[in-house]
Amino acid sequence: MSFEGRLESGAIAALATPLGQSALAVIRTSGPNCIEMVSGGLKKPQLLRSAAGHTVVHSALVEANGDLIDDVLLAVFRAPRSYTGEDSVEIYAHGSIPGIDRIFSRLFQLGFRQALGGEFTMRAFVNGKLDLSRAEAIQELVSAQSREAHIHALHRLGGAVERRIHAIRDSLVTFMASVAIQLDYDEMETGEVRCDQGQLDTALRDIAELLGTYEKGRRYQFGARLALAGKTNAGKSSLFNALLKEERAIVSDVHGTTRDYLEARIIVRGVPVRLYDTAGFRTATDDIEREGIKRSGNIVEAATMVVYLVDGGKGPDEEDLQRLGLLKKEGHAVVVAWNKTDLEGSSQAPDYLEGFKVLGISALQYRGIDRLFEFIAEHINAAQSAGDESLLIDSQRQFELLERAHSALTEAKASLQGNVALDMVALDIQDALGALGEITGEVSSEEILDAVFSGFCVGK
Ligand code: GDP
Repeated sequence: MSFEGRLESGAIAALATPLGQSALAVIRTSGPNCIEMVSGGLKKPQLLRSAAGHTVVHSALVEANGDLIDDVLLAVFRAPRSYTGEDSVEIYAHGSIPGIDRIFSRLFQLGFRQALGGEFTMRAFVNGKLDLSRAEAIQELVSAQSREAHIHALHRLGGAVERRIHAIRDSLVTFMASVAIQLDYDEMETGEVRCDQGQLDTALRDIAELLGTYEKGRRYQFGARLALAGKTNAGKSSLFNALLKEERAIVSDVHGTTRDYLEARIIVRGVPVRLYDTAGFRTATDDIEREGIKRSGNIVEAATMVVYLVDGGKGPDEEDLQRLGLLKKEGHAVVVAWNKTDLEGSSQAPDYLEGFKVLGISALQYRGIDRLFEFIAEHINAAQSAGDESLLIDSQRQFELLERAHSALTEAKASLQGNVALDMVALDIQDALGALGEITGEVSSEEILDAVFSGFCVGK
């Protein structure tokens, strides 16, 4: 549904809790005449009509003929002190599917229409209750996959992004003012151009800092990637299962059984981790296997960390060392798991291989797995433990706008240093200000709003 639909006024209603059998169902309503309209469906309408904002009323919701629909509590919010900024009533009913159906039929009779996805938050934005970055944080909060993602989304909901962007914009506006003055002087041909670049540098630095938090923010929201690599038969599938503590991968001693890759999701100290069991590094004998090995290579490429398995019964061969050397050259984070330590005659694991830490394990007998897990957790969390309170962004939209602002300001700076005409500098700064304004929604178009709110589900 398009933005225009969401901008229509009138009274709206939506179920704010999942539809299903439950103790309570919460129905959210909002609109200029909302309190009066809901009152019309109550056994004692006067109770709600005369209720002050931020109070709760207990009454019976009834059909037009007076038949009881449900015994409900009603939370009253009077404009502008409500989520949407309009009059609003939240109805706490019993969580029965037929009951919820009846309530909605009654609400529609009373003049409400079904709210569209994101319509409540959209109204909140239009009525100035929150900026776009906070609206996005609501979505991020609800969809948070880990405790940390949840904490960071709360931080953003508190206006952390908005405040930071305002601070950056303020310093740019000041800088812009000094450019404008210079432009005026220029017109009077007073000669040399001079502007204090301090504010420009600060803005650039602050934007770069925010951009730098994106990957971490995404990792919290969408997870780190952990790839199990190594030659066929090293024990990747066995370790995959050991880490999962359940049998999901096909474990076999036939070469090349793991043709593609398997993926599983686990949580490591609050960070969601996507675990991949990749195809063995081995010369493929058929096309399907070749394709599998190619895809595995991509998985390793994009991994936050690689666990490289070595068959400890045989020790690493030339190919293993070459692979490890390559991973090192490419700058991957790697831990070597020296597997099959339970085998008699298994060689002693060295401390390091090609500069990577080596840990002895037995995937089959579940030995050393805890230590490996600890090591992985430490690596994945190392960068994150430092600034739990700090601001992270995880919206791709915000990231792209920050990039736009950053490149515009970089242009502006280069122009200043290259003595390019000041009005070009002013244009770049305008562009940066525009991009920052889009983050908070101060500069917005229907398209932008549509993109933001289309991701919301009904009731938000
Ligand atoms: P992959 O090809 O790397 O996925 O290796 P698999 O997990 O399929 O294991 C290959 C063979 O090695 C299987 O027969 C496993 O049972 C065996 N294996 C895996 N891990 C261990 C281990 O820790 N100890 C022993 N003794 N055998 C193992």
